[in-house]
Amino acid sequence: MRRSIIAGNWKMNATLREAEALVTALVQRPIPETVEVVVCPPFTAISHVARLLAGSRIGLGAQDLFWESAGAFTGEISAPMLVDLGCRYVIIGHSERRTYFGETNEWVSRKLRAALAAGLAPIVCVGETLAQREANQTMEIIDQQLTSALTGLSAADLSRLIIAYEPVWAIGTGKNATPEQAQEVHLFIRNGLSQRFSQQAAESVRIQYGGSVNAANAASLLQLPDVDGALVGGASLKADAFQAIVQAAQRRGQGAALK
Ligand code: PEP
Repeated sequence: MRRSIIAGNWKMNATLREAEALVTALVQRPIPETVEVVVCPPFTAISHVARLLAGSRIGLGAQDLFWESAGAFTGEISAPMLVDLGCRYVIIGHSERRTYFGETNEWVSRKLRAALAAGLAPIVCVGETLAQREANQTMEIIDQQLTSALTGLSAADLSRLIIAYEPVWAIGTGKNATPEQAQEVHLFIRNGLSQRFSQQAAESVRIQYGGSVNAANAASLLQLPDVDGALVGGASLKADAFQAIVQAAQRRGQGAALK
């Protein structure tokens, strides 16, 4: 049974004071054994959040990185720098980065390799736009994104890889994928991993769903057989809502254990 993973993507939100208030509220809440919980603050708050998380079971991640380790790359942050701050996870290829900052599949691939080389657990985002879904291109787009990201990776690399299926039309829109839509794409991703590597390797990869996950819809998405957690944007900025999603993931773990 894959361990559920709930990650909060704070995006460009939270001053130090706001970050402190949110993390202080989160660390007071119980984290179920069956759920891995991660927060991904903006770069500016990572070091402060790292101190606040000391001794807690909440893991720390970043929202992006650059593939070079150091050098003349003004404004960029490298994988070793994130490790230095205490990060264990990093989001790569979020659709907002692809859309607003021109990130390509090639860049995602380079960033993924840099993250793995530094020992980070990459959360690689894939997903189709509304136009692509309406043109029946969802699987083709996901396949292209996966092919580019995974080429050259070994089965051993997969043990740390997390994939987030985030339909672009569902991010920040309040319009989530239906459980049927989510399960269909998650299974497609898992089958793609199985074909490229092995069934055993594919079974070990956690695939998160992301796109308007909230306290009300989390349970219906997290109980799906190939949905192993959630990448949460807006709802991760509210301790109560985030905790409710974590609890929904715990119930998934309990349900599976009873089977
Ligand atoms: C995200 O930022 O990855 C995301 C899924 O955002 P939201 O939950 O707000 O749709």
